[in-house]
Amino acid sequence: MSLDEIDRIAASLDRVLWVAFTGGEPFLRKDLPEFAGILHDRLRPVTLSINTNGIQTDKIVAATEQLLARCPDTFVGILCSLDGLQPTHDRIRGVPRNFERTIETFRALKKLRDHAPNLGVGITTTFCSWNQDEMDDMFELVVRDLKPDNWDLSFVRGQAMEPALELADVAKYRRIKSRLEQAYASGDLRYYSNMPLARFVHAKERLSTRTVLKTLETGSFQTPCYAGALSAVISEEGDVYPCELLNRKIGNLRDAGYNFKALWAADNARDTRTFVRESKCFCTHECNMSINLLFNPAAYPRIVAEMALEAAGNSLSSRPKSLPGLVPAPLAPQARATLTREADIRAPVRSPASRKS
Ligand code: SF4
Repeated sequence: MSLDEIDRIAASLDRVLWVAFTGGEPFLRKDLPEFAGILHDRLRPVTLSINTNGIQTDKIVAATEQLLARCPDTFVGILCSLDGLQPTHDRIRGVPRNFERTIETFRALKKLRDHAPNLGVGITTTFCSWNQDEMDDMFELVVRDLKPDNWDLSFVRGQAMEPALELADVAKYRRIKSRLEQAYASGDLRYYSNMPLARFVHAKERLSTRTVLKTLETGSFQTPCYAGALSAVISEEGDVYPCELLNRKIGNLRDAGYNFKALWAADNARDTRTFVRESKCFCTHECNMSINLLFNPAAYPRIVAEMALEAAGNSLSSRPKSLPGLVPAPLAPQARATLTREADIRAPVRSPASRKS
Protein backbone atom coordinates (compact mmCIF):
# COMPACT_ATOMS: atom_id res chain seq x y z
CA MET A 1 0.00 0.00 0.00
CA SER A 2 1.18 3.52 -0.71
CA LEU A 3 1.79 6.14 1.96
CA ASP A 4 -1.30 7.97 0.76
CA GLU A 5 -3.41 4.85 1.26
CA ILE A 6 -1.88 4.31 4.69
CA ASP A 7 -2.63 7.91 5.65
CA ARG A 8 -6.27 7.49 4.63
CA ILE A 9 -6.62 4.33 6.70
CA ALA A 10 -4.93 5.92 9.72
CA ALA A 11 -7.19 8.96 9.42
CA SER A 12 -10.19 6.67 9.86
CA LEU A 13 -8.91 5.33 13.18
CA ASP A 14 -8.73 6.68 16.71
CA ARG A 15 -5.70 6.42 18.95
CA VAL A 16 -4.17 2.94 19.34
CA LEU A 17 -1.97 1.41 22.01
CA TRP A 18 0.44 -0.64 19.91
CA VAL A 19 1.48 -0.93 16.29
CA ALA A 20 3.63 -3.89 15.22
CA PHE A 21 5.42 -4.19 11.89
CA THR A 22 6.19 -7.79 10.97
CA GLY A 23 7.21 -9.46 7.77
CA GLY A 24 8.47 -10.36 5.36
CA GLU A 25 11.12 -7.85 6.28
CA PRO A 26 9.73 -4.41 7.24
CA PHE A 27 13.02 -2.61 6.53
CA LEU A 28 12.77 -3.54 2.84
CA ARG A 29 10.27 -0.69 2.64
CA LYS A 30 12.41 2.35 1.88
CA ASP A 31 9.67 4.61 3.22
CA LEU A 32 9.37 2.78 6.56
CA PRO A 33 10.34 5.88 8.65
CA GLU A 34 7.64 7.96 6.96
CA PHE A 35 5.15 5.06 7.19
CA ALA A 36 5.79 4.93 10.94
CA GLY A 37 5.66 8.71 11.11
CA ILE A 38 2.16 8.79 9.64
CA LEU A 39 1.00 6.28 12.26
CA HIS A 40 2.78 8.25 14.97
CA ASP A 41 1.00 11.46 13.98
CA ARG A 42 -2.43 9.95 13.40
CA LEU A 43 -2.65 7.16 15.98
CA ARG A 44 -0.24 8.24 18.72
CA PRO A 45 0.71 4.67 19.68
CA VAL A 46 2.43 4.16 23.02
CA THR A 47 4.60 1.45 21.45
CA LEU A 48 5.68 0.68 17.93
CA SER A 49 7.54 -2.58 17.40
CA ILE A 50 9.45 -3.87 14.39
CA ASN A 51 10.71 -7.40 13.79
CA THR A 52 13.75 -7.60 11.54
CA ASN A 53 15.92 -10.33 10.06
CA GLY A 54 18.91 -8.02 10.63
CA ILE A 55 20.46 -8.77 7.25
CA GLN A 56 21.09 -5.22 6.00
CA THR A 57 22.83 -3.62 8.94
CA ASP A 58 23.58 -0.17 7.50
CA LYS A 59 20.13 0.28 6.01
CA ILE A 60 18.38 -0.90 9.19
CA VAL A 61 20.40 1.40 11.44
CA ALA A 62 19.95 4.41 9.13
CA ALA A 63 16.20 3.80 8.83
CA THR A 64 15.91 3.39 12.61
CA GLU A 65 17.62 6.74 13.17
CA GLN A 66 15.19 8.42 10.78
CA LEU A 67 12.25 6.63 12.33
CA LEU A 68 13.20 7.69 15.85
CA ALA A 69 13.49 11.30 14.72
CA ARG A 70 10.06 11.01 13.07
CA CYS A 71 8.40 9.33 16.09
CA PRO A 72 9.71 11.18 19.15
CA ASP A 73 6.68 10.48 21.34
CA THR A 74 6.48 6.71 20.84
CA PHE A 75 8.54 3.92 22.38
CA VAL A 76 10.15 2.01 19.50
CA GLY A 77 11.10 -1.63 20.10
CA ILE A 78 13.20 -3.37 17.46
CA LEU A 79 13.45 -7.14 17.71
CA CYS A 80 16.21 -8.95 15.81
CA SER A 81 15.24 -12.50 14.90
CA LEU A 82 17.70 -15.14 16.06
CA ASP A 83 16.47 -18.71 15.71
CA GLY A 84 19.52 -20.60 16.95
CA LEU A 85 23.30 -20.73 16.93
CA GLN A 86 24.99 -19.98 13.63
CA PRO A 87 24.44 -23.29 11.74
CA THR A 88 20.84 -23.65 12.95
CA HIS A 89 19.91 -20.03 12.35
CA ASP A 90 21.34 -19.97 8.83
CA ARG A 91 19.69 -23.33 8.06
CA ILE A 92 16.26 -22.15 9.23
CA ARG A 93 16.59 -18.81 7.48
CA GLY A 94 18.13 -20.22 4.31
CA VAL A 95 20.52 -17.27 4.07
CA PRO A 96 24.31 -17.77 4.35
CA ARG A 97 25.91 -15.51 7.02
CA ASN A 98 22.49 -14.41 8.26
CA PHE A 99 23.53 -15.16 11.85
CA GLU A 100 26.67 -13.03 11.58
CA ARG A 101 24.77 -10.14 10.03
CA THR A 102 21.99 -10.28 12.62
CA ILE A 103 24.51 -10.09 15.46
CA GLU A 104 26.19 -7.13 13.75
CA THR A 105 22.86 -5.35 13.34
CA PHE A 106 21.89 -6.05 16.93
CA ARG A 107 25.15 -4.59 18.25
CA ALA A 108 24.83 -1.51 16.01
CA LEU A 109 21.26 -0.91 17.18
CA LYS A 110 22.36 -1.26 20.79
CA LYS A 111 24.95 1.45 20.25
CA LEU A 112 22.22 3.65 18.81
CA ARG A 113 20.09 2.93 21.85
CA ASP A 114 22.69 4.52 24.13
CA HIS A 115 21.70 7.88 22.67
CA ALA A 116 18.01 7.25 21.97
CA PRO A 117 15.82 7.32 25.09
CA ASN A 118 12.77 5.94 23.27
CA LEU A 119 14.50 2.94 21.65
CA GLY A 120 14.53 -0.64 22.96
CA VAL A 121 16.48 -3.42 21.25
CA GLY A 122 15.55 -7.06 21.72
CA ILE A 123 16.04 -10.55 20.36
CA THR A 124 13.16 -12.70 19.18
CA THR A 125 13.41 -16.47 18.84
CA THR A 126 10.91 -19.06 17.73
CA PHE A 127 11.39 -22.19 19.86
CA CYS A 128 11.13 -25.26 17.60
CA SER A 129 12.41 -28.81 17.22
CA TRP A 130 15.56 -27.67 15.41
CA ASN A 131 16.78 -25.31 18.13
CA GLN A 132 15.30 -26.78 21.33
CA ASP A 133 18.49 -28.68 22.22
CA GLU A 134 20.78 -25.68 21.94
CA MET A 135 18.81 -23.42 24.25
CA ASP A 136 21.47 -23.50 26.99
CA ASP A 137 24.05 -22.24 24.51
CA MET A 138 21.53 -19.70 23.21
CA PHE A 139 21.02 -18.55 26.80
CA GLU A 140 24.77 -17.92 27.16
CA LEU A 141 24.88 -16.05 23.88
CA VAL A 142 21.78 -13.93 24.43
CA VAL A 143 21.75 -13.33 28.18
CA ARG A 144 25.48 -13.27 28.98
CA ASP A 145 26.86 -11.79 25.78
CA LEU A 146 24.25 -9.84 23.79
CA LYS A 147 22.24 -8.60 26.80
CA PRO A 148 19.11 -7.39 24.94
CA ASP A 149 16.36 -5.33 26.52
CA ASN A 150 14.10 -8.30 26.00
CA TRP A 151 14.44 -11.87 24.77
CA ASP A 152 11.11 -12.69 23.19
CA LEU A 153 11.07 -16.50 23.04
CA SER A 154 7.89 -17.91 21.46
CA PHE A 155 6.75 -21.48 20.93
CA VAL A 156 6.40 -22.46 17.27
CA ARG A 157 2.85 -21.91 16.02
CA GLY A 158 0.81 -22.08 12.85
CA GLN A 159 1.95 -24.21 9.94
CA ALA A 160 5.71 -24.30 9.48
CA MET A 161 7.00 -24.78 5.94
CA GLU A 162 8.94 -27.74 7.35
CA PRO A 163 6.39 -29.70 9.48
CA ALA A 164 9.15 -31.31 11.58
CA LEU A 165 9.85 -27.90 13.11
CA GLU A 166 6.50 -28.05 14.89
CA LEU A 167 7.47 -31.14 16.92
CA ALA A 168 8.92 -29.09 19.76
CA ASP A 169 9.12 -30.35 23.35
CA VAL A 170 6.97 -28.34 25.76
CA ALA A 171 9.01 -29.47 28.80
CA LYS A 172 12.17 -28.07 27.20
CA TYR A 173 10.31 -24.85 26.44
CA ARG A 174 9.18 -24.55 30.06
CA ARG A 175 12.77 -25.06 31.22
CA ILE A 176 14.32 -22.32 29.09
CA LYS A 177 11.47 -19.91 29.89
CA SER A 178 12.15 -20.56 33.56
CA ARG A 179 15.86 -19.81 33.11
CA LEU A 180 14.89 -16.63 31.33
CA GLU A 181 12.63 -15.54 34.18
CA GLN A 182 15.45 -16.14 36.62
CA ALA A 183 17.71 -13.95 34.48
CA TYR A 184 15.20 -11.11 34.74
CA ALA A 185 14.65 -11.67 38.45
CA SER A 186 18.40 -11.67 39.18
CA GLY A 187 18.99 -8.55 37.11
CA ASP A 188 21.12 -10.35 34.48
CA LEU A 189 18.54 -9.03 32.01
CA ARG A 190 16.44 -5.92 32.37
CA TYR A 191 13.10 -5.78 30.62
CA TYR A 192 12.99 -2.55 28.55
CA SER A 193 14.05 -0.33 31.43
CA ASN A 194 13.11 2.77 29.39
CA MET A 195 9.65 1.54 28.32
CA PRO A 196 6.56 3.17 29.88
CA LEU A 197 5.14 0.92 32.65
CA ALA A 198 7.90 -1.66 32.03
CA ARG A 199 7.40 -3.51 35.34
CA PHE A 200 3.68 -3.92 34.77
CA VAL A 201 4.17 -4.94 31.14
CA HIS A 202 6.79 -7.51 32.11
CA ALA A 203 4.52 -8.97 34.80
CA LYS A 204 1.81 -9.32 32.17
CA GLU A 205 4.30 -11.07 29.88
CA ARG A 206 5.17 -13.50 32.67
CA LEU A 207 1.50 -14.31 33.13
CA SER A 208 1.17 -14.66 29.38
CA THR A 209 3.99 -17.23 29.42
CA ARG A 210 2.25 -19.22 32.13
CA THR A 211 -1.02 -19.14 30.20
CA VAL A 212 0.68 -20.22 26.97
CA LEU A 213 2.37 -23.10 28.82
CA LYS A 214 -0.93 -24.21 30.27
CA THR A 215 -2.52 -24.07 26.83
CA LEU A 216 0.30 -26.21 25.44
CA GLU A 217 0.24 -28.69 28.31
CA THR A 218 -3.53 -29.12 28.44
CA GLY A 219 -4.45 -28.42 24.83
CA SER A 220 -7.39 -26.41 26.07
CA PHE A 221 -8.94 -22.93 26.17
CA GLN A 222 -7.66 -20.71 28.99
CA THR A 223 -8.91 -17.19 28.46
CA PRO A 224 -11.17 -15.30 26.02
CA CYS A 225 -9.43 -13.99 22.90
CA TYR A 226 -10.01 -10.39 21.81
CA ALA A 227 -8.58 -10.79 18.31
CA GLY A 228 -11.00 -9.15 15.88
CA ALA A 229 -12.37 -7.02 18.71
CA LEU A 230 -9.35 -5.19 20.14
CA SER A 231 -6.67 -6.09 17.62
CA ALA A 232 -6.36 -6.69 13.91
CA VAL A 233 -3.82 -7.74 11.32
CA ILE A 234 -3.59 -5.71 8.10
CA SER A 235 -1.74 -7.23 5.15
CA GLU A 236 0.36 -5.36 2.61
CA GLU A 237 -2.64 -5.45 0.27
CA GLY A 238 -5.07 -4.05 2.83
CA ASP A 239 -6.71 -7.34 3.78
CA VAL A 240 -7.91 -7.32 7.38
CA TYR A 241 -7.86 -10.42 9.60
CA PRO A 242 -8.60 -10.85 13.31
CA CYS A 243 -5.11 -12.33 13.82
CA GLU A 244 -2.28 -14.03 11.95
CA LEU A 245 -3.68 -17.51 12.44
CA LEU A 246 -7.41 -17.64 11.86
CA ASN A 247 -8.47 -17.99 8.24
CA ARG A 248 -11.36 -15.52 8.41
CA LYS A 249 -10.79 -12.45 6.28
CA ILE A 250 -12.87 -9.56 7.57
CA GLY A 251 -12.54 -7.51 4.39
CA ASN A 252 -10.24 -5.32 2.34
CA LEU A 253 -9.55 -1.70 3.15
CA ARG A 254 -9.29 -0.62 -0.49
CA ASP A 255 -12.76 -2.08 -1.11
CA ALA A 256 -14.01 -0.30 2.03
CA GLY A 257 -12.79 3.11 0.85
CA TYR A 258 -9.93 2.99 3.37
CA ASN A 259 -12.44 3.36 6.18
CA PHE A 260 -11.29 0.99 8.91
CA LYS A 261 -14.12 1.84 11.28
CA ALA A 262 -16.75 1.02 8.64
CA LEU A 263 -15.12 -2.36 7.96
CA TRP A 264 -14.84 -3.03 11.69
CA ALA A 265 -18.56 -2.32 12.18
CA ALA A 266 -19.75 -4.45 9.24
CA ASP A 267 -21.49 -7.84 9.54
CA ASN A 268 -18.41 -9.84 8.60
CA ALA A 269 -16.41 -8.36 11.47
CA ARG A 270 -19.28 -8.94 13.90
CA ASP A 271 -19.62 -12.55 12.74
CA THR A 272 -15.89 -13.11 13.25
CA ARG A 273 -16.04 -11.76 16.79
CA THR A 274 -19.01 -13.99 17.52
CA PHE A 275 -17.14 -17.00 16.13
CA VAL A 276 -14.03 -16.32 18.21
CA ARG A 277 -16.09 -15.82 21.37
CA GLU A 278 -18.58 -18.67 20.97
CA SER A 279 -16.11 -21.27 19.70
CA LYS A 280 -13.76 -20.44 22.60
CA CYS A 281 -11.02 -20.21 20.03
CA PHE A 282 -7.60 -20.78 21.53
CA CYS A 283 -3.97 -20.86 20.47
CA THR A 284 -0.54 -19.95 21.86
CA HIS A 285 -0.03 -16.72 19.94
CA GLU A 286 1.94 -14.67 22.47
CA CYS A 287 1.05 -11.24 21.05
CA ASN A 288 -2.66 -11.96 21.23
CA MET A 289 -2.32 -13.64 24.62
CA SER A 290 -0.68 -10.50 25.88
CA ILE A 291 -3.62 -8.36 24.71
CA ASN A 292 -6.10 -10.89 26.09
CA LEU A 293 -4.60 -10.54 29.56
CA LEU A 294 -4.13 -6.78 29.44
CA PHE A 295 -7.81 -6.20 28.72
CA ASN A 296 -9.23 -8.92 30.96
CA PRO A 297 -9.93 -7.53 34.44
CA ALA A 298 -9.91 -11.11 35.78
CA ALA A 299 -6.19 -11.19 35.04
CA TYR A 300 -5.25 -8.11 37.05
CA PRO A 301 -4.87 -9.73 40.47
CA ARG A 302 -2.54 -12.28 38.91
CA ILE A 303 -0.53 -9.60 37.10
CA VAL A 304 -0.04 -7.85 40.43
CA ALA A 305 0.94 -11.20 41.96
CA GLU A 306 3.48 -11.68 39.16
CA MET A 307 5.01 -8.29 40.00
CA ALA A 308 5.41 -9.43 43.59
CA LEU A 309 6.80 -12.81 42.53
CA GLU A 310 9.38 -11.21 40.28
CA ALA A 311 10.47 -8.94 43.08
CA ALA A 312 10.88 -12.07 45.22
CA GLY A 313 12.92 -13.86 42.51
CA ASN A 314 10.31 -16.52 41.77
CA SER A 315 10.31 -18.48 38.53
CA LEU A 316 8.29 -20.93 36.47
CA SER A 317 10.21 -23.94 37.77
CA SER A 318 9.17 -23.21 41.35
CA ARG A 319 5.48 -22.90 40.48
CA PRO A 320 2.98 -25.72 40.19
CA LYS A 321 2.32 -26.81 36.62
CA SER A 322 -1.43 -26.82 37.16
CA LEU A 323 -1.89 -23.08 37.39
CA PRO A 324 -5.44 -21.94 37.93
CA GLY A 325 -7.11 -20.88 34.69
CA LEU A 326 -8.34 -17.34 34.27
CA VAL A 327 -11.69 -18.49 33.00
CA PRO A 328 -12.72 -21.89 34.32
CA ALA A 329 -14.94 -22.59 31.36
CA PRO A 330 -15.42 -26.11 29.98
CA LEU A 331 -13.91 -26.66 26.56
CA ALA A 332 -16.49 -26.39 23.83
CA PRO A 333 -16.27 -29.36 21.45
CA GLN A 334 -15.76 -27.14 18.43
CA ALA A 335 -12.92 -25.28 20.12
CA ARG A 336 -10.65 -28.29 19.99
CA ALA A 337 -11.07 -28.32 16.27
CA THR A 338 -10.68 -24.59 15.86
CA LEU A 339 -7.02 -24.63 15.02
CA THR A 340 -6.64 -28.18 13.95
CA ARG A 341 -8.80 -27.90 10.86
CA GLU A 342 -6.35 -27.09 8.12
CA ALA A 343 -8.80 -24.78 6.39
CA ASP A 344 -8.89 -22.54 9.43
CA ILE A 345 -5.20 -21.88 9.46
CA ARG A 346 -3.80 -19.21 7.21
CA ALA A 347 -0.79 -20.95 5.78
CA PRO A 348 2.04 -20.47 6.17
CA VAL A 349 1.92 -18.23 9.21
CA ARG A 350 4.43 -17.19 11.87
CA SER A 351 6.84 -20.02 12.22
CA PRO A 352 10.62 -20.23 12.03
CA ALA A 353 10.63 -21.15 8.39
CA SER A 354 7.88 -18.84 7.24
CA ARG A 355 8.38 -15.80 9.43
CA LYS A 356 11.31 -14.27 7.62
CA SER A 357 11.72 -11.23 9.83
S1 SF4 B 1 -7.31 -17.69 19.81
FE1 SF4 B 1 -5.56 -17.47 18.42
S2 SF4 B 1 -6.33 -18.19 16.42
FE2 SF4 B 1 -8.14 -17.79 17.71
S3 SF4 B 1 -8.70 -15.69 17.22
FE3 SF4 B 1 -7.35 -15.60 19.02
S4 SF4 B 1 -5.29 -15.27 18.19
FE4 SF4 B 1 -6.58 -15.95 16.50
